[in-house]
Amino acid sequence: MSNIGIIGGGPAGIMCAIFAAKNPNNKVFILDKSIILNTILPTGGGRCNLAYCEYNFKELAKFYPRGEKFLYSILSKFSTADTIEFFNNIGVETYVQEDLRIFPVSDSSKEVKNALLKQIDRKNIKKLFENVLKIKKTPQGFDVTTDKGFHHFDKLVIATGGKGNGHSLAKSLGHNVTELRPALSSLITKEKDFASVSGISLKNIEAQVFFNNKKVKTLSGDFLFTHNGISGPLVYKISSYCAYLNFDDKNPLKIVLNLVNKDSQDFDKELSESLKTSAQKDILNTVSNYIPKNLAAVVLKKENISHDIKSGQLSKQFREKIVKNLTSLTFNALKVTRGEEIVTAGGVDLKEIDSKTMGSKIVSDLYFCGEILDIDGLTGGFNLQNCWSTGYISGKALYL
Ligand SMILES: Cc1cc2nc3c(=O)[nH]c(=O)nc-3n(C[C@H](O)[C@H](O)[C@H](O)COP(=O)(O)OP(=O)(O)OC[C@H]3O[C@@H](n4cnc5c(N)ncnc54)[C@H](O)[C@@H]3O)c2cc1C
Repeated sequence: MSNIGIIGGGPAGIMCAIFAAKNPNNKVFILDKSIILNTILPTGGGRCNLAYCEYNFKELAKFYPRGEKFLYSILSKFSTADTIEFFNNIGVETYVQEDLRIFPVSDSSKEVKNALLKQIDRKNIKKLFENVLKIKKTPQGFDVTTDKGFHHFDKLVIATGGKGNGHSLAKSLGHNVTELRPALSSLITKEKDFASVSGISLKNIEAQVFFNNKKVKTLSGDFLFTHNGISGPLVYKISSYCAYLNFDDKNPLKIVLNLVNKDSQDFDKELSESLKTSAQKDILNTVSNYIPKNLAAVVLKKENISHDIKSGQLSKQFREKIVKNLTSLTFNALKVTRGEEIVTAGGVDLKEIDSKTMGSKIVSDLYFCGEILDIDGLTGGFNLQNCWSTGYISGKALYL
């Protein structure tokens, strides 16, 4: 009989518990300082984007800016198909959305939470509502001190996510933790002209990202203006790939957006034609053929172009300014919006973890799973997939 303590009742810890408890000789305890599985409720805007429809594990691993190679063996054992099968088996039917993100048919993260909780109860997993403060390794296992008392476990899993004191607990046991940075976050920009169009979104546009006058990446996705900067899936992606670049007001991250997905010369020709054919129309109406009207108004105001100037009367200089704004609108990102990040980049150093078991290579009988690790993915279901997969691998290792 093994006493197994799992610190953290988020998606990773719960997945681990469910598989560890399949062995009747294991007595499994989940310790959580808060309400178990509450962290799943806001996922996917309450709909729980639990996976992504990519069945090739090497292709799937490409969606993780940190952890890609480490995930190969893990995703080869538990990946998209296994996630869907697992959830179907516990009564959660799933569907694939047009953009390949996978959701429960109910579009409800509550349903996912309840289905997982049912498994916890069915498998007699004990829930302890306690905050773990200290862990001591002993020859027989682990002595765990919480805000409510003291426990001994033969084996221990740390699944405390990207925030909180899990990293300090890992460090106290001798593990290295790589630098933690916010990822998947909105960006605060120097440009404030667009505050009035906060909330306006643009579908699938391209961004070129530069830092220190060097191109970092070209990325695409949906984009959103905010009151103090930029956001949306495209910006989350940028923040993730640039998580470790030290940009600030002195040395900003330059983001050049192509709002019309057209080459500037081609667009210049197209706009020139359009200005001729709509010569009697106000310029605002002509530009609104390419971008939302409120945004067109902001672009014109920014360039001091009167809204009611007739399209046929627009000077070449003004036309070129409009083309520049629509094909290479530039934002200087000064910092990320702190505290609102979706995931934490960095975590327990993967060099010290055995990907076949999720066991520590330096402390026997210690395991890690989920976001506490130096693994983070883009938006699209990849971060929960990391939880299901690493949770499964650690649970399976504890089952054996
Ligand atoms: C708003 C939002 C939306 C998201 N949407 C998606 C999405 O749609 N798809 C996706 O793939 N990912 C999404 N994510 C990311 C995803 O939710 C996380 O990556 C995931 O929850 C991490 O799971 P985890 O189990 O590793 O840690 P967590 O979910 O953070 O759970 C850790 C648990 O450990 C407990 N804990 C921490 N420290 C202690 C301690 N010392 N003692 C006891 N308990 C402790 C906490 O109370 C918590 O319950 C979203 C994140 C956010 C914030």
